[in-house]
Amino acid sequence: MTPSHFVVQLHDATTLHFDFRLQAGDVLRSWAVPKGPSLDPQVRRLAVPVEDHALSAGDFEGVHEGHRRGSGAVIIWDEGTAEIVRDEPGHVSFVLHGHKLRGGFALTRTGERRWILIKVRDDDARPGSDIVTECPASVRSGKTWQQLAAGLPPGRCSAAGGLAARACVVKHERAGIVGVPGQGQLAG
Ligand code: MN
Repeated sequence: MTPSHFVVQLHDATTLHFDFRLQAGDVLRSWAVPKGPSLDPQVRRLAVPVEDHALSAGDFEGVHEGHRRGSGAVIIWDEGTAEIVRDEPGHVSFVLHGHKLRGGFALTRTGERRWILIKVRDDDARPGSDIVTECPASVRSGKTWQQLAAGLPPGRCSAAGGLAARACVVKHERAGIVGVPGQGQLAG
């Protein structure tokens, strides 16, 4: 397995979308995922390939100037290390070690500029969960994109920054400890 880095940014542009970026050497391979990743292996999320980005793009959290629609806000929704398991034309599978996303995932091309992102069935899968709704805030600042766009501080629960994200991780781990495999729930 090849060690790598991944980042998922939530970007309020013309439409709100997630940018899934996976390091390949000195660039970030990138897909726009309108609905964001899921930990439910039954969920298939559309992932539209976009141009490679510089590694520095994956470090950006802030508000883009000069955008035409949307607030331009970008939060780092998740990030961490990735191990590339398979990398073939039209298919890449990998194991993520993020704050929210963990375990095996795969991206597979299903058509012209059309891929799907799925969670592999493993101990980190959370059938029935909705990680995007349950853990909306930045793993860096603890802010939602709306708080960032409005110049507001993070929510009270995350005043120290990132606490909201960490609380999500704690729930996640508890779910793994107490959950029946295949029935783990993030919601408390
Ligand atoms: Mn984007």
